[in-house]
Amino acid sequence: GHTSSDVHTDFLTVNSPNVVYTETEIKSKYTYRTTSVTKIAEGKYVAEPKETVYDFKVDRKVGKVGMMLVGWGGNNGSTVTAGIIANRRGLVWDTREGKREANYYGSVLMGSTIKLGTDAKTGRDVNIPFHNILPMVHPNDLVIGGWDISSTNLADAMDRAAVLEPALKKMIRDEMASYKPLPSAYYPDFIAANQEDRADNVLEGSKASLAHVEQIRRDIRDLSDFKDANGLDKVIVLWTANTERYADIIDGVNDTAENLLSSIEAGHGEISPSTVFAVACIQEGSPFINGSPQNTFVPGVIELAEQHGSFIGGDDFKSGQTKMKSALVDFLINAGIKLTSIASYNHLGNNDGKNLSSQKQFRSKEISKSNVVDDMVEANSVLYKKGEHPDHTVVIKYMPAVGDNKRALDEYYAEIFMGGHQTISLFNVCEDSLLASPLIIDLVITAEMMTRISWKSHSDGRASDDYKGFHSVLSVLSYMLKAPLTPPGTPVVNALAKQRAALTNIFRACVGLEPESDMTLEHKLF
Ligand code: NAD
Repeated sequence: GHTSSDVHTDFLTVNSPNVVYTETEIKSKYTYRTTSVTKIAEGKYVAEPKETVYDFKVDRKVGKVGMMLVGWGGNNGSTVTAGIIANRRGLVWDTREGKREANYYGSVLMGSTIKLGTDAKTGRDVNIPFHNILPMVHPNDLVIGGWDISSTNLADAMDRAAVLEPALKKMIRDEMASYKPLPSAYYPDFIAANQEDRADNVLEGSKASLAHVEQIRRDIRDLSDFKDANGLDKVIVLWTANTERYADIIDGVNDTAENLLSSIEAGHGEISPSTVFAVACIQEGSPFINGSPQNTFVPGVIELAEQHGSFIGGDDFKSGQTKMKSALVDFLINAGIKLTSIASYNHLGNNDGKNLSSQKQFRSKEISKSNVVDDMVEANSVLYKKGEHPDHTVVIKYMPAVGDNKRALDEYYAEIFMGGHQTISLFNVCEDSLLASPLIIDLVITAEMMTRISWKSHSDGRASDDYKGFHSVLSVLSYMLKAPLTPPGTPVVNALAKQRAALTNIFRACVGLEPESDMTLEHKLF
């Protein structure tokens, strides 16, 4: 059960002199402890503990939240919508393996727990659902809307996706049929030519325009008006439409916020639909997340987001192969095993696969999948010389027969002790959309959460005057994303465990709790 009242019933209360609860806010004073390092000679360092004090403030009013999906009628869009409806209604349906009930498995926020601490009496770990660490929106409460270049209603879209069981589809068919995607911006140059016959629900004009930006802003506001009736007050927008080709970054065109806006006005051919959506969302103050691999966030978009203090996050859902990779490579290299090559083969038969069978769109995916082990390799100077890198190849083939049941075959080849070898072969088969849907939920819930957290820094024992938000580029979403976008000039973290720790510990800090260190000295020093 959950509540959807205005002020969330807290699942957790922190009892600390550094944490204050008001009717509307949680305020905490948090000491961030890091280690500052100076290199004094080759291989020699001096390390100095460093403390920075921050004030965090969390708005306790979750409010009601809208989720708008670009590509709503696709496999992911229809599956996540169906999944939320089924959860909302607590549905149970027949399958050939017996009854199944709605759940949020695969969502790190809804399906996993975090260690809160140790029981005051027994000394045992106390673990709580991740979702309960802060007042977060419950996915069942999301108001859903969106756009698609295909006019197909969500019931027919769910049939087209061929992901869910017939018995479940029957139970939600009427509600799904009532959802019809809004017309979207379609610039044929950006997605595969094989998508053209889907495009029967498009805004007039096949290049970027101010009219498109304004229409998208109106659409967000329309849901907002609708949301007024429901007492809603925020819309998060997420791109789960087809993978676009890369946009060229051109001086004077999309390199700055100002140039980008002029280029949209001038209908420049190098501005993609996803970039137009990003601009509209930034101007509307709605967080925008890109679940596909293309470079939606050209430099002009990032600058615009910073100017508006609006949130963006991306790129590309990390659902199957890459998620395994960012866990397995982290393990291998941190175990001191020298990974020397990764060969990744995929085949899939859904519409995503069809679109990716076109070279330019495949290239976006290839780039996104390529850099995911860089940080882990670079961090280990014992195994890898500077600039040395494991071989890494990614192949994707369209195989209609397997539908949404994507196959990922990976071979990890590594060098072990004294010149020996280890080969790990993986065969991962999953419905792609059932992996991506919970990530959409995590991305939306986390992005919404971040709109309610603000911070102040301290200097000379005094807090600065005003609270401010996190940087516009939400790198805290990295756990859910294959090619995490980070604030300009800041490092990318791909290692899955680190990404999860960042998410957990930032949320803990907001309620004045230390990071979970896993030292468990209380069990080692008695
Ligand atoms: P899909 O092809 O089933 O759905 C995409 C939808 O987007 C289609 O309904 C299409 O009509 C629509 N569309 C295309 N261009 C549009 C536009 N300009 N505006 C609005 N709608 C538009 O694909 P899917 O399986 O749902 O995947 C969606 C995206 O997510 C793909 O880019 C895919 O690469 C990415 N992705 C998926 C996964 C996964 O596990 N499923 C993982 C990583 C990334």
